[in-house]
Amino acid sequence: MSDQPKYHRILLKLSGEALMGDADYGIDPKVIGRLADEIIEVQRIGVQIGIVIGGGNIFRGAGLAAAGMDRVTGDHMGMLATVMNALAMADAIEKRGGYARVMSAIQIHDVAEDYIRRRAIRHIEKGRIVLFAAGTGNPFFTTDSAAALRAVEVGADLLLKATKVDGVYTADPARHADATRYEQLTYGDVIQRNLQVMDTAAIALCRDHGMPLRIYDMTVPGSLMRIMRGESIGTLVDG
Ligand code: UDP
Repeated sequence: MSDQPKYHRILLKLSGEALMGDADYGIDPKVIGRLADEIIEVQRIGVQIGIVIGGGNIFRGAGLAAAGMDRVTGDHMGMLATVMNALAMADAIEKRGGYARVMSAIQIHDVAEDYIRRRAIRHIEKGRIVLFAAGTGNPFFTTDSAAALRAVEVGADLLLKATKVDGVYTADPARHADATRYEQLTYGDVIQRNLQVMDTAAIALCRDHGMPLRIYDMTVPGSLMRIMRGESIGTLVDG
């Protein structure tokens, strides 16, 4: 297999839940450390990396609204949660000798740079791992939409969604023993079959801009590197 990575620039979407390990809230330093190791390893073979992190391990606007809070306030809290996660990931990357920058979609100057597309691309070109925080900066969106948006904006050649399942299945594999995994789907398939891959806004953006998406299991160590080397693990959505 060639030493050259298959991808030049990727956008990695990590859910907030991915950071909490076996706990039901917050950040597990071991989990974030392992993810940072894998991300740096891939950066060192020449892949340029942007990351969007969710906030579901701390707050979600919809959950707060269900408990009686104003939805927009809840979404602001959710976006701030993603900033905390991005700071933690940047710290883990830098502790391991990598270079990271946190860019926020809402202004929060004492802790993060503002998201400015050209500056973000410049950081990425210089080998810095850019953490796009605060989602899209707007309530009623999700970090899946933010990931699709940033992937298109910075010209990524692949959007990766890291989950705890090894791809997209015909049914929930935890409840249906006969569920099978799709190796490849089109965006049309995802919409028609109402597959829960990402939210509709994110799927529509990827489809309209021809952004390939791979869903993979980030709990299996080494998966990110295998994808960068060209292995088809998980499910690819393209076309
Ligand atoms: N959020 C938002 N606008 C965005 C992205 C996120 O308002 O563009 C808020 C929303 O409340 C969301 C929370 O931030 O529930 C955390 O993001 P998300 O639920 O996407 O995180 P994940 O499920 O990936 O951990």
